[in-house]
Amino acid sequence: MLRWKDIIYYAKYGNPEPYEKVEKTEEEWRQELTEAQYQVLRQRATEPPYRNAYCRSYEPGIYTCAGCGQMLFNATEKYHAISGWPSFTQPARRGAIRYTFDDSHHMQRIEAICNVCGGHLGHVFNDGPEPGGLRYCINSASMVRLQDSCEG
Ligand SMILES: [Zn+2]
Repeated sequence: MLRWKDIIYYAKYGNPEPYEKVEKTEEEWRQELTEAQYQVLRQRATEPPYRNAYCRSYEPGIYTCAGCGQMLFNATEKYHAISGWPSFTQPARRGAIRYTFDDSHHMQRIEAICNVCGGHLGHVFNDGPEPGGLRYCINSASMVRLQDSCEG
């Protein structure tokens, strides 16, 4: 289980190795992604609170990266954070996400980035539920939810 000290360590000293790397030109991303996906993943935009696909959705399944398809989160780690964006307590795998300090918008935050394709996902905070205490605040447009075939 990842805790806040792990996140800080990764942001400061280096992130876990990705399982694989997907690299594309900005032109390729523009063609393959929808406008909303492109704005979030490649331009680091934040979608409006509550008016996004997975904010109030708690169906089972896995959330994959809209850019590269790797598994980011399991729906079992999703919880109601009253933030307006889908929120998770843990990533699906330790190496799925990388972390970097983000000082934009006059805030000190830690940005969550897809470790495979480098797409912007959202931010991670230390006010999540115990025992891990993490809150991954993620843009819906950066993810695609797949139904878990094991449960269907
Ligand atoms: Zn990705």
